[in-house]
Amino acid sequence: MYRYTEKICKKCHLQEDAFHGITLNEQGLCSLCVKISKSPKRDWDNLQKDFETKLDNVRGHLPYEGMIMMSGGKDSAYMANLLKKKYGMNLLAFIIDNNYEYPETFDNAKTIAHKLDMPYIFYRQDPKLMRQYYQVLFCEDALSQQDCGQVCTFCGRFLIRTATDFARCMGIPLVFSGHNPEQIFLMGESIETDLERLTIMEFTMELVAEDTQKASEVWGKITPAHTNRLFPRSLAPKDVSLVFPFQHFPYEPEKMMRTVRDELDWLPIKRFSKTYIASGCRLVKLWAYLAHCSNTNSYVDLEFSSQVRSGTLASETVQKFYSETNVEIDELSALIRELDMTKEMKLLLEKQFGKTNELLQKL
Ligand SMILES: [Zn+2]
Repeated sequence: MYRYTEKICKKCHLQEDAFHGITLNEQGLCSLCVKISKSPKRDWDNLQKDFETKLDNVRGHLPYEGMIMMSGGKDSAYMANLLKKKYGMNLLAFIIDNNYEYPETFDNAKTIAHKLDMPYIFYRQDPKLMRQYYQVLFCEDALSQQDCGQVCTFCGRFLIRTATDFARCMGIPLVFSGHNPEQIFLMGESIETDLERLTIMEFTMELVAEDTQKASEVWGKITPAHTNRLFPRSLAPKDVSLVFPFQHFPYEPEKMMRTVRDELDWLPIKRFSKTYIASGCRLVKLWAYLAHCSNTNSYVDLEFSSQVRSGTLASETVQKFYSETNVEIDELSALIRELDMTKEMKLLLEKQFGKTNELLQKL
């Protein structure tokens, strides 16, 4: 999210990055843009039919046919709109507070629920547990990755499992999640027919399983009782199906944004840049900053670049996004104090980036 070099791909805006093996050629294009990657062919008619069958199978289910995870972003707003208006589903919205969200996130989620006449549950995770959880995800040596990707990978899985467990308690058979195709792929939930993509996905899943095991062990030494809840091996219990609508419909972010603005009064959350592309919580800025100090792109950068290559996001929009982002050291240091991890973060920053690190000096 933050720029650490001038060597930037002129098409997808990825930075040169040894950790991810991204180099630039003489024309200024990155190795991912140069590689002639066939975008996976999708049989959208059939994928949409599969989706509709899943919905038909639960129609008339009491008390709710499905639960929808609402993040306040455009993707979940669009999905809620589709499920309510086009498919007439009887839904319960589920809004999770990880304790580090921006307030607009909840305003957006609640506005959408009201507009669509949907009941909702607002679920705040245990503040003390979350503080401890993020301290470990950010600062524990054994879990840390150079691009700090572990925070989002683990937390994303944990939040989905929170929703699916809750649905099970309520007797709700389907949980809808508005993750985009890249995120679904990284969670191993993508519907793939291409052998190469299947292999990469399986390999990624093996790594996630190994990391989950390692994280469970690390956490188990701290507070054994919570191990399974925070680091689930699977995303849903047996009798709940997790559905990712963007596996069944083309992902068209700019068009979706127009729809939810017009139909639901949805507002972009401009905490990362004046040019809105995606939403996120306050923790995003911290892991994006750490990735930047390590001279690596973060997973958000890789996601945007992939959307540029697949033609769903305009290159100019991404360029504008980056030109309007700035590291806000004061916000980061306040967040670190709130997470009660000043001591741990100081050690980490000094060890990895030296005494002159700007954030370290502020703490
Ligand atoms: Zn590129």
